[in-house]
Amino acid sequence: MQPLSKIVVVGGGTSGWLAAAMLRHHLKPELCDIELIESEEIGTIGVGESTVPPFVGLIQRLGIDEQEFIRATEATYKLGIQFVDWHQRSHTYFHPFGAIGKPIGTHDFYQCWLKARTLGDSSSLQDFSPCNVMAENGRFFPPARARNTPIGGANYALHIDAALVARYLRGYSEARGLKRTEGRVTDVHRKDNGFIDHVVLADGRKVHGDFFLDCTGFRALLIDKALGVESNDWSDYLPCDRAIAVRTENHGPLLGYTRATAQKAGWMWRIPLQHRIGQGYVYSSRFCSDSEARSTLLRNLNSGALDEPRVIPFTTGHRKELWKLNCLSVGLAGGFLEPLEATAMHLIARGIDFFLRYFPTRDCDPALIREYNRRMTADYEEVRDFIVLHYSATRRDDSPFWQACQQLPLPDSLRERIELFQSQGAMREGTDELFRASSWQSVFEGMGIRPRTYSPRIDNIDYAQIQDTLRTAKAAIAGMVEHLPTHEQFLSRQFG
Ligand SMILES: Cc1cc2nc3c(=O)[nH]c(=O)nc-3n(C[C@H](O)[C@H](O)[C@H](O)COP(=O)(O)OP(=O)(O)OC[C@H]3O[C@@H](n4cnc5c(N)ncnc54)[C@H](O)[C@@H]3O)c2cc1C
Repeated sequence: MQPLSKIVVVGGGTSGWLAAAMLRHHLKPELCDIELIESEEIGTIGVGESTVPPFVGLIQRLGIDEQEFIRATEATYKLGIQFVDWHQRSHTYFHPFGAIGKPIGTHDFYQCWLKARTLGDSSSLQDFSPCNVMAENGRFFPPARARNTPIGGANYALHIDAALVARYLRGYSEARGLKRTEGRVTDVHRKDNGFIDHVVLADGRKVHGDFFLDCTGFRALLIDKALGVESNDWSDYLPCDRAIAVRTENHGPLLGYTRATAQKAGWMWRIPLQHRIGQGYVYSSRFCSDSEARSTLLRNLNSGALDEPRVIPFTTGHRKELWKLNCLSVGLAGGFLEPLEATAMHLIARGIDFFLRYFPTRDCDPALIREYNRRMTADYEEVRDFIVLHYSATRRDDSPFWQACQQLPLPDSLRERIELFQSQGAMREGTDELFRASSWQSVFEGMGIRPRTYSPRIDNIDYAQIQDTLRTAKAAIAGMVEHLPTHEQFLSRQFG
């Protein structure tokens, strides 16, 4: 058995530094060297500022103090995503994090609510989501400090400044013995068995390793240019292929959520940080030119631009083999699904989690590689299906883009999920998935997809008990949220 003694990470964007920090945390420096090569001349993509709740868990697992991290990255709290004008114009819904309601006895909360709804109760599902109620009222309080209260089931993620995160993780990794090399990789040399032997920098230096992480962003220098691994192209399912992004001044109350507002040919994001707001327009080049996208973005900004808007083309999909031989592709080099549910950083972390789970010796047993690729592909497909749902269930037909969305082909896995849900609100849940039942229920509900009936099992519980529980739970959440600090107050008390 020949253990890996040197891992080379090529690329120092969010993926490179997050991967490096995770590896440095888990691998003893005396057993395995890690060297990261990055090129300041090339730079990073500079977007990617909204996260999902497992990101907070990751920070904690790395032993990073959350407060210190929030201060260093100008982060704000994120309770979910508000979707404006997606189902139809002037319609808004919320995808909250955390739980929605609590089971009544052994009965699923959603099913109890569904029965009440069917019998004429006017409560909305989101009345029972502590995150939604906090977001609607501009409030925030960490659920970990309110465990046995009506908001105890809430959860949160962070909005972060991507450049500051990379800087923070660089400091973290270097303090744990990581070697950073500045330089531009110009060539990749392979051994007779196809494995990568070393990369060559522009000034002629060679960097050898037993294993390589391709974190070079859309350039995909190792996995694509050197190893020729192709990508699955999911553009048929997901229509957007470009984004235009800009940083803007802070303005108005600090939202505790990401806002995604549908536009004529895509949607605009608004991500609030402590020191500025990130805004951008994700659109389809079939229906919108770059200059139209620029005007739409600038027209809809609700605060002054701090820099020139930047167009970022992308292709939706992932590498057919995310891990090949002794090369693992991570981040944009491995794949990209548009940022509607802010899942890219999560997929980076999952990629490294699985790599550590199937950690190879130098020969990189193909059985480990196969399992890794199977697990990661399942994650990408889950995220793809969830995002496709947001588009395909639209009722909008006021532009050619939205008309085309109504005709989008559905992946079989999504079609089955929808059919199952429509039958009686049942969920198709896999192992260890990012989006749990409450996420799917929120988006189904927001996009107007309802079960035909509730589960007949719910008739075994006294309906008066359901009514009572709903009334009490709704009032308890609303009553507590009213007394919480605003998002701004909470941040300034912690970090002001
Ligand atoms: C429009 C848009 C919005 C997004 N929003 C979100 C979001 O809200 N949430 C989220 O989780 N993700 C989001 N993402 C994805 C997120 O930006 C990326 O997953 C994340 O930034 C990781 O990028 P990366 O590190 O893979 O690539 P990059 O940031 O491009 O970094 C590549 C690195 O490789 C280096 N490099 C490249 N070539 C060479 C070379 N020849 N030699 C040496 N070094 C080299 C570069 O210098 C750089 O350091 C978004 C992406 C886009 C396009």
